[in-house]
Amino acid sequence: MEFIRLINVLKQYDKGAVTALNNINLSIDRGSFVSIIGPSGSGKSTLLNMLGALDSPDSGHVIINGIDLASQKDLSDFRRHEIGFVFQLHNLLPNLTVQENVEIPLMDAKMSEKDKHRRALLFIEAVGLLDKKNQKPNKLSGGERQRVAIARSLVNFPSIILADEPTGALDTKTGAKVLDVLRFVHQTINATLIIVTHDHDVARLADRTIEIRDGQVINDYYNR
Ligand code: ADP
Ligand code: ADP
Repeated sequence: MEFIRLINVLKQYDKGAVTALNNINLSIDRGSFVSIIGPSGSGKSTLLNMLGALDSPDSGHVIINGIDLASQKDLSDFRRHEIGFVFQLHNLLPNLTVQENVEIPLMDAKMSEKDKHRRALLFIEAVGLLDKKNQKPNKLSGGERQRVAIARSLVNFPSIILADEPTGALDTKTGAKVLDVLRFVHQTINATLIIVTHDHDVARLADRTIEIRDGQVINDYYNR
């Protein structure tokens, strides 16, 4: 079933001198796993920002679950409830423990404290950091911090997970672990998982790969 639809999405920078997205049309099914590949500067991050409602197109439409984002008054509310962002800059709060950091998105959720703890611990366990739950971020390695950030971005069960080079800064083993967690959540809560990557081995794990170049889709295929 169609969940995300882009219609003639155009995005330019520098007063039209740079066309980052050139009339993109795309349809993505609910619960699917899509990888986006393409050279640096091809428009991948801009596309991810559109999908995550971090930015809006100059023309065209981004429709998620039947709702045109242009009609939404409060995109930040939409983001908080629907989107899990996994970016390389993870911005953990230094004075909070791992568990407290992971519980941040649940702050205003209508859940008991006990359920919040339980939910956070479920994800901390999934990223393999249960033994570090009471540590502060400065006691963790870069890869561990990345995994905390992933647990935090998934803890409120987003319907869309957007990951920009989630394995880019990690060693092979940690990268594999991070991908396992993303796929686990994607499968468990039927979230739509969209990963931007340079790595063709990572791209191949997805059901579908979309290749972009110069702001246009030049290839779109199903893996296996
Ligand atoms: P990718 O993620 O594939 O590297 P981007 O989406 O970041 O590509 O960039 C696409 C194009 O848009 C590039 O030419 C880039 O320089 C330009 N661009 C991206 N963001 C901005 C911005 N904030 N201001 C000006 N140009 C930008
Ligand atoms: P709030 O309104 O709750 O302060 P925002 O609406 O700014 O937060 O952001 C909502 C979500 O989008 C958060 O998960 C945040 O991490 C993410 N986000 C916001 N801006 C960016 C950005 N420029 N790059 C990456 N993630 C962002």
